[in-house]
Order: sequence, then structure tokens, then C-alpha cells
Amino acid sequence: LSDRLTSVFSSLRSKGRLSEADINATAREIRIALLEADVALPVVKDFIAHVKERALGAEVSQALNPAQQVVKIVNEELIEILGGETRRLRFAKTPPTVIMLAGLQGAGKTTLAGKLAYWLKGQGHTPLLVAADLQRPNAVQQLQVMGERAGVPVFAPEPGNGVGDPVQVARRSVEEARRAQHDVVIIDTAGRLGVDAEMMQQAIDIRDAVSPDEILFVVDAMVGQDAVNTAQAFMDGVGFDGVVLTKLDGDARGGAALSVRHITGRPIMFASTGEKLEDFDLFHPDRMAGRILDMGDILTLIEQAERTFDAQQAERMTAKFASGEDLTLEDFLEQMMMVRKLGPIRNLLGMLPGMGQMRDQLDQIDDKDLDRVAAIIRSMTPAERANPKIINGSRRARIAAGSGTTVSEVNNLVTRFFEAQKMMRQVVGGMGLPGMPGGGR
Ligand code: GDP
Ligand code: MG
Repeated sequence: LSDRLTSVFSSLRSKGRLSEADINATAREIRIALLEADVALPVVKDFIAHVKERALGAEVSQALNPAQQVVKIVNEELIEILGGETRRLRFAKTPPTVIMLAGLQGAGKTTLAGKLAYWLKGQGHTPLLVAADLQRPNAVQQLQVMGERAGVPVFAPEPGNGVGDPVQVARRSVEEARRAQHDVVIIDTAGRLGVDAEMMQQAIDIRDAVSPDEILFVVDAMVGQDAVNTAQAFMDGVGFDGVVLTKLDGDARGGAALSVRHITGRPIMFASTGEKLEDFDLFHPDRMAGRILDMGDILTLIEQAERTFDAQQAERMTAKFASGEDLTLEDFLEQMMMVRKLGPIRNLLGMLPGMGQMRDQLDQIDDKDLDRVAAIIRSMTPAERANPKIINGSRRARIAAGSGTTVSEVNNLVTRFFEAQKMMRQVVGGMGLPGMPGGGR
């Protein structure tokens, strides 16, 4: 996908404004990207239509080329949809708060129950885990293991507590929580490999018995397209208030997140990213958007470029290089300052397509060094800046003294400059990032 987007970037780079053709071309690629990320087709269609509408009305950006601008809108819309109405757990006015987990077998409910309990405990709550999955032989024991690891008690069926009757177990657990002053009850329920009426009815019966404050639908991010059908079935069946996405440590692109959110309108509240108790966090829409589009770094770069971009400056530079003029020390300094504005140089390097060849050059520049470099260049005469070849030994000594640096620092800078000059001649026209020389806009 990154390759695909890069080619869109370069094909549209030369255009100055957002035309319908630009938008359509980029939208096509985004559409494929979303489908590859397993977003369901109807969701993709709605989403793209919405993005197109917004892109057509968008003002032309100074800093970004049309493709970048469309990608930015897509990203913003994704974040908006994934994160719209983000909310925390709702706690009951009168404890205990009852949280019920629902989802297919293998979705990660039992694991999540342990993680959620551990997380809540870390926030000062006193949760009680409830084993209301009596379907699978070892389901109760699995929850007990999770509870032990989390240091959270588990309410398991025993004689008199509704052995064999998950509804009874759930009901009793709430009574127990009230008695033992557990402020949160987390009810683990049974799932089936596929949606079936019996499982759904059991979930409904448990729901009606305990009136949960939150029903969380747990869904495996790896299921891809199927997430839509499952989510719809659970929505129509037991209903739910929020979504937990599991197995995000896998290689799934997370398109399920967008589909489930779009189809059910319920917020994604948590993300589960592994088998350990700690592999759990609140859901972050921006990370998920980047993951779906598989271009986190490019997005970061777009944001940074936008923040710091100086259109006139870059255009002047670009025109200059395009006309075949050589890099001068003034330009060199100006560029280094621009690069610095973009953030720590090392972070940046990895993001710039085609930047590999300049890595060694820029790698030698420390942000702190830049001030010294600036001092050196400012200590040169205009003639020296325009034509550094004239900077001989005695001039170097004078510059070093004037800038409070050493002759070897001056030597170093001049050497680096000549290397950069050579490099620029090669790079001109080859890149295309705003704010960088060669950014052919
Ligand atoms: P349940 O049937 O819905 O209760 O699902 P489980 O909690 O038993 O999880 C099914 C399998 O998925 C188990 O092997 C878990 O260890 C594993 N699992 C659950 N959540 C995650 C996760 O976030 N990442 C990974 N890699 N595995 C998970
Ligand atoms: Mg389970």
C-alpha cells in the first residue's frame, strides 16, 4: 500500500489545486487500501463518498499537494469515525457496575475479562470476575487462571450457586459483589464459533437477569470482513454499548474496527494487543486510522510539513535548483533550519522517501550543532557565502575566531557543504516533499 500511495503522491505532485480528477484518482487508491485492510464494501463506499464530498469543498492547501491533501482528509475522517463519541466506561451510580462481555468463541472474551479486571484494579477498583461461560469444559478454569494472574477474585459456579445455569451464576454474582463490596462485576459469557440462536438467547437471558451497565462486544480484529455480520447479529440480538477489538498484535489491518463502528454506531472503547495482562489499552483512533491506511509515518510527516512549511521559501529554493543554480552556504543554512523545524533529524530521516542517500549527510548534523553552523556561516563575508571555494586557510582562521568555533569545525562545515552541494545536484527533481529542495510543486 505504501508503494501505491507513493506513486499517487508522485503522479499528482506537480499539480497545484484539488480538482475532481485528483480526488477521484486518490479516492480509487484509498478505496483499494480500505478493502485491503478488510473494511466491508458497503462501509468503504459510504466512507469514500463522504470523503469525496469533503475534498471537493476543501480549500487548496499551501503546504500539501492534492494527493497529500486527500490522504489527510481521509485520515481525519477515519479518526473522526473511529473516535467519534469516544467515551469511558460508565460506572453505576450505585455499585456494583455490571459489565457483560459478549462475542463469538475465541474472540478473546475470557482473556479480556482478566485484562479489564487488572486494569480496573490498577485504578483502585475492586472488581469481581464472573464465570458465566459454562459451555466449554475448561472455561471456568481458564477464567480462574486469569483471575489469579490479575489478583482478582473469580465467582465460579459451585453447588447452590447455579451449577450449569449461567443466568443463575450471573445473578448470584451481583448479589455476592454487593455483599463483599466489589464495585465492578465483569461477566464472562459463552460464545459459539458462529452466531446461533441458543447462544444469543443465553446472552439475552443473562442481560435481562443482571441489567448490565455496559455490554461490551468483543471482536477479533483478524476476522476481517466477517466482523460486519457478527457485529450486526450481536447488535440485533443482545445489543451492546461498546466494542473491544482484540488481537491487534496480529497482522490484521484493523478494517474490522471501521466496519463495526460504521455498521453499529457503537464506539470502540478498548484494544487488546496480546496474551499478557498488560497488553491492553484504551482504543486510540489515530493509531487505528494510520494502521488501516498503513502510512503512519507519511501522515506524521504531512502534519509536520504543514505545521512548519514556508511556501515562499521552498518555492524560491525549488525555482533556484530547477534553474540549475548551485547550492550556496546561505541556502545550506536555510535548509538546515527548515529541517530542524521539522523535528529531530533522525526521526525525520526514516520518513522521507528517497532520503536514504542523504542519510549520512544529515546524520552528522545534530540539532545543537546547527547553532554553531549558523554562527560559522554568519561569520563569513557575502562573497565567501556565495562562493565558498575562496575560503582558504587564513579566511578559515578568521571565520573560526569570529564565530567562536575552531578551524576544524569550519573545515568540517565547508567539507560537508561541498558534499551536500554535490548531492543536491543529483537529488534535484527526484524528491518532492514540501520544504525540501527538489520538491517539484
Ligand atoms: P473467548 O473464547 O472469547 O473467551 O476467547 P479467549 O479469551 O479464550 O481467547 C482465545 C484465544 O485468543 C486464546 O488463546 C487467547 O490467549 C488468545 N487471545 C486473546 N486475546 C488476544 C490478543 O489480544 N492477542 C493475541 N495474540 N491473542 C489473544
Ligand atoms: Mg472464554
